[in-house]
Amino acid sequence: EAKQQHVRVLVYRAGDDEHHLRQVGLMGVLRHALELHQFRLLFQPKIDLPSRRVVHVEALLRWNSPQYGDVSPDEFIPLAERSGMIRAITRHVIDEALRQAAPWIADGLIEGVAVNLSPMDLVDGDLTDYVAQRLQAHDVPPCSLVLEVTEHTVMRDLEVARANMHQLRGQGVRLSIDDFGTGHSSLAQLRSLPVDEIKIDKSFVADLGSGNDDAVIVRSAIEIGHNMGLKVVAEGVEGPVSLAILESLGCDMVQGYLISRPLPADAFVAWCMRYQR
Ligand code: C2E
Ligand code: CA
Ligand code: CA
Ligand code: CA
Repeated sequence: EAKQQHVRVLVYRAGDDEHHLRQVGLMGVLRHALELHQFRLLFQPKIDLPSRRVVHVEALLRWNSPQYGDVSPDEFIPLAERSGMIRAITRHVIDEALRQAAPWIADGLIEGVAVNLSPMDLVDGDLTDYVAQRLQAHDVPPCSLVLEVTEHTVMRDLEVARANMHQLRGQGVRLSIDDFGTGHSSLAQLRSLPVDEIKIDKSFVADLGSGNDDAVIVRSAIEIGHNMGLKVVAEGVEGPVSLAILESLGCDMVQGYLISRPLPADAFVAWCMRYQR
């Protein structure tokens, strides 16, 4: 194994080499990030159309490493998966998101909180029990938790993922297909999954209205979602033109910088108070 790594490093060019060193370094410090409290959550609202009411808030993980500064989840989540840390991280995020959002849900500020799952989380057979236990501990109704899973996640091990999703759904938890449109699942496969909503990937939403094919893709994604009885969310909404198009196409919910960037908990609450008034 170590020998194989060594050979692989040798055949990399300089840039790859640096990249590899960074990965190894990150992996080393990531191991202690949880116990050193280097993670925190930001919160980004999903609003309903056409009412513009805040429905859910998505918890997005941030890692500040003393050695590396702010590291993007796009970089550290795959490392956490490879090192087996993802199980502990996901549990931490579920617990923290429920703990922080519980009073917002109880006060009616939002209906629920969304948490992202990684591919490996859906093969964790104990996840359902953990979720049930934390929902109870924080006194949050199951329907107020949304778990976002990507198509890639589900397709990696369809049967196991499906079984786990049925267990979670059976408990009353809501499930969302994230990054919709970027995976390779068939509609038949998607229809066999117990999901409540799809989130159209931001790559199709970003340039809506600039006269390319994106509007066609978004329109059909919304149609597919509605035909399957699902709520459709568009993420990455950055401008008023995109928002207007999404609204005219009957999209149910939107999320993006136009509404709000992901915010720390206290700033999110302040934003909500101002926004809902
Ligand atoms: P995602 O779940 O698809 O989340 C959407 C990403 O788009 C977030 O990036 C968000 O900050 C960003 N975003 C929101 N609005 C806009 C917009 O209007 N324009 C643009 N360009 N981007 C927007 P972030 O927070 O860096 O997260 C990246 C990815 O990392 C997430 O993609 C998700 O796959 C993963 N991730 C984040 N937090 C967690 C977590 O707690 N657990 C797991 N397993 N994955 C996470
Ligand atoms: Ca609506
Ligand atoms: Ca997500
Ligand atoms: Ca996404």
